[in-house]
Amino acid sequence: MTDLGSPATANGRQIPAWIPTVGPGWAALLTDLHARLCELDEEYQVEDFSVDSGRLRLHVADRYDATGEVDVVFADAAVQLIDDAVRASAQTCDRCGAPGRPRFRGRGRSVGSLVRCDDCRTAPPVQPRPEGARTRPVQELSASGRC
Ligand SMILES: [Zn+2]
Repeated sequence: MTDLGSPATANGRQIPAWIPTVGPGWAALLTDLHARLCELDEEYQVEDFSVDSGRLRLHVADRYDATGEVDVVFADAAVQLIDDAVRASAQTCDRCGAPGRPRFRGRGRSVGSLVRCDDCRTAPPVQPRPEGARTRPVQELSASGRC
């Protein structure tokens, strides 16, 4: 049984915890998505967060009402917000946040895809940064904690 009621647990499983794992160009759209999800439920929980071939994947945990039924109003609204953010990320340079598009590139034996603008298209993939490193939105978020 997972403790979904603890603010500490909620904080560690919300979008700000994953922002340092993606390129700084996506920080603003993820921060915006976090704010919108908090408007629905300030203790929402990320169930799955990854970037696969340059594409953002994100799911939040279902919420249940007092009778144990899935809260479909929350689920529908959360899915809509996440779909909008995923679509936006597919057109946003993960390095600088400018309008971009998926760029396929080879690296060794693997071929991957990154969303990049024209200026950043040849820059190397963004490596996950240690907590609190460099970009201002991440520092602001870690200072403020949660919603
Ligand atoms: Zn760029």
